Amino acid sequence: MLGWGYRVRALSEAGSGPEDGPVLFYTQAPGPFGLHLRPHGLLSASGTEPVGNLAALEQDLLAAVFWLCTHYAAYSPTHPVDAHGRPLPAYLPGLTDPEVPACHVLAARLAAALGQQGAPARPLEVIHTVDVDNAYAYRGKGPWRWWGGLAKDVLAGKARHVYRRLGAAMGLLADPYDNHARLLGSLHGPGKTVFFLMASHGRYDKAIAHSHPLFAALVARYQQAGWRVGLHPSYGGGQNAQAIRQEAKALAPHTQDAITQTRHHYLRWKIPHTPRLVAELGFTDDYSPGPVVPGFWQGISVPFLWYDVERDEVSGLTLHPAAWMDVHWAMRPAEGIATLQRLWAALKPFGGQLVLIWHNDYFSVFQSYVGQLK
Ligand SMILES: [Zn+2]
Repeated sequence: MLGWGYRVRALSEAGSGPEDGPVLFYTQAPGPFGLHLRPHGLLSASGTEPVGNLAALEQDLLAAVFWLCTHYAAYSPTHPVDAHGRPLPAYLPGLTDPEVPACHVLAARLAAALGQQGAPARPLEVIHTVDVDNAYAYRGKGPWRWWGGLAKDVLAGKARHVYRRLGAAMGLLADPYDNHARLLGSLHGPGKTVFFLMASHGRYDKAIAHSHPLFAALVARYQQAGWRVGLHPSYGGGQNAQAIRQEAKALAPHTQDAITQTRHHYLRWKIPHTPRLVAELGFTDDYSPGPVVPGFWQGISVPFLWYDVERDEVSGLTLHPAAWMDVHWAMRPAEGIATLQRLWAALKPFGGQLVLIWHNDYFSVFQSYVGQLK
């Protein structure tokens, strides 16, 4: 996070050579010079035993960052999850605001204690990502789903839906989810990635048929505009290796590059099961860690390698935590863009990547606000 290089030395080597930077003694007893930080014990422990005294942990800046960005608390079988099985965020007692990038604050505290302050090591980048759960509301669904949907809307008395469906079929009205041109025209910058849901059966999985020419054309359109294409593992199959393999296989013929990016639908990401699964399946980058509430996932907003605490090993999977998604906005329209602007301002002093999640089925409503992210 600080962008520093470092060298680790055994205590017996202390003072054995000229130091070309600040010195930290991460030891039980203070060293003869430099900054002293007493280890809490978490970094030398093995296993996933819950940390009892979080206030004490917060004093060990290195262990505190580890506890946060591994989401250590979520390894406990009693850690709370929401209705979709997603582990809720965990906070340190002195850093309980989800809109505060806690890991970055702790890193800055360490830098200040070492007498190093100044401009952030990296700029703040906004990374736009899009989840295409349902490319079109009415198009590309095939006759059975189209007529079935019409019958359902008629029986439920949804006159507006019937009007829109018929209007779209006759070419008189735009498909309400066809906001792709707006997305492509409005979202710019580095790292743009679009994730496609492939599953079309299930309460939460309603993609259009991937065999339909409209789907192939849509993926090609994003790629031609310079977007990377990733898989959006389904709600129903996203925790199952065989199902993810099938979904990736269905997406592969449509992409120019290998599919190495992933983000789970509904951000259903369970520690340690899901990151292990996607790493074993060959994905290199996972954008699933994200905001069940708006704010920084476990206080961190830079890409980093996932660490499997249970196995005590660093993986080859890079995580890209997201801080905000348009769904939050849809749930609280009165908030408007204010939350997003607060998150941007909170991360700005530290630099990093502010990863945002957009959806084509919401985007037309928000388009006019994107330009305000400056
Ligand atoms: Zn989704």
